Amino acid sequence: MGKFYVTTAIDYVNASPHIGHALEKVQADVMARYHRLKKDDVFFLTGTDEHGMKLFRAAQNENISPREFCDKMSARFIELTRALNLSNNYFIRTTDLKHKKAVQKLWLACRKDIYLSKYKGFYCVGCEAYLTERDLVDGKCPVHKIEPEIIEETNYFFALSKYREALLSHFESNPRFVIPESRYNEIYSFIKSGLEDISISRSREKLVWGIDVPEDPSQVMYVWFDALTNYISGIGYEDDSEMFRKYWPANVHVIGKDISRFHAVLWPAMLMSAGISVPETIFVHGFLTVEGEKMSKSRGNVIDPLEIVGKYGADPLRYYLIREIPTTEDGDFSQRRFEERYNYDLANDLGNLLHRNLKLFVSYQSGMIEKSVDFDHEDKVLIEEIMSAVSIYQKRMDNLELGEGLKVVMEIVGRMNKYVDEESPWSIAVENPERFKTVMYLISEGLRIISVLIQPIMPETAEKIQYHLGIEKPDFSLESTRKVGLGESRQVNPGKPLFPRITA
Ligand SMILES: [Zn+2]
Repeated sequence: MGKFYVTTAIDYVNASPHIGHALEKVQADVMARYHRLKKDDVFFLTGTDEHGMKLFRAAQNENISPREFCDKMSARFIELTRALNLSNNYFIRTTDLKHKKAVQKLWLACRKDIYLSKYKGFYCVGCEAYLTERDLVDGKCPVHKIEPEIIEETNYFFALSKYREALLSHFESNPRFVIPESRYNEIYSFIKSGLEDISISRSREKLVWGIDVPEDPSQVMYVWFDALTNYISGIGYEDDSEMFRKYWPANVHVIGKDISRFHAVLWPAMLMSAGISVPETIFVHGFLTVEGEKMSKSRGNVIDPLEIVGKYGADPLRYYLIREIPTTEDGDFSQRRFEERYNYDLANDLGNLLHRNLKLFVSYQSGMIEKSVDFDHEDKVLIEEIMSAVSIYQKRMDNLELGEGLKVVMEIVGRMNKYVDEESPWSIAVENPERFKTVMYLISEGLRIISVLIQPIMPETAEKIQYHLGIEKPDFSLESTRKVGLGESRQVNPGKPLFPRITA
């Protein structure tokens, strides 16, 4: 048993959540739930990023205060956490008082590396980021294709360049600091090419909606200095030192590829400066396209995860995001693929494995699972395969290869269906009830183990399977998957199909 602290990026509340947000949240939730299966002490943090000019202007456009605007938008992300059945322990908002205090505390802790200087450069309001000459393409922000604002003012700088050597050596001694390797290499070369000190504040007239620089209210903090601090403010950096000591450093920050530099360069440097240990792993996922196209408001193809959940439930969406989207690469959301995965994997393979066998218990054993471990050679081969799959699953999940871990579970489902076909228990139920009993017990054990392994990905489904199997006290521990034969005799609860087929 250990501790496991996982975070998502906090979402900028300038727009409603889309399917890409759902991907990141579900990935982090799967990690959190998997570690709970291992009986680790888990803390899972998510939240919203609520400062910056873009939000201030958006609130002005709607004629409401920035705080009202943030409350309204943040509520949508909180709703998303419920809809996706996330198991987050806390939801941090950067407008929370305790967060503000934590950011100011961290600023003071970094004071030796913060200095006043003249800033002249570019600022993209779309990115909420300062850009340098070399970031621009044809004089424009490469992401937003707009000319950045030119800013010339005196503000505070963070001596990022000082941390080049320390960061390089941290990367070298921690090959899993950034996952996947391609991102690690990319950021490592970026650091190697040299780091510039970075402006971390703006004058109050330019940035009205933000956190005050301590001891200098004429300046407001740069949104990234503010936002990154959520990972420690959310676990008591300012107000609960016991909790902070318990969970920090984070085991995994789950983030998107567009913000990997802030997380793997600026954030560790800030922490080093403050004398705080750096996170263990920055886990970078890819982006989602929709039907092969980039998602955008103008194309009108933005997928609302709440709509999918409303139609099919959270689990099928969670399943799709983990099974179909390569865990650390770009992927695609397509309605056709979603329906295929749903019908083939969930309705046919998993759903049928459960329901066809529940029917057999009802038809031939009055709904009883009878414990019988009189396994023959074929049974023992199957048991060995399941046990080896369990250990591969564990390796994959420990290694954050979530899609691969789920694939292993679905292979067990396939293997169990094959066993059912080969043994065709219905054909021996009457003439050989002893053998029937053993075959059916082994099938129930396979299903029990599947229910545990699939729990991080499809928590509701896992609960339902255990309910149908008549398990009175649900047991979701990895420990319980290490042996076939732990399940006792009991009465099943038949019921409606887990995944009614989607028909055209
Ligand atoms: Zn931009």
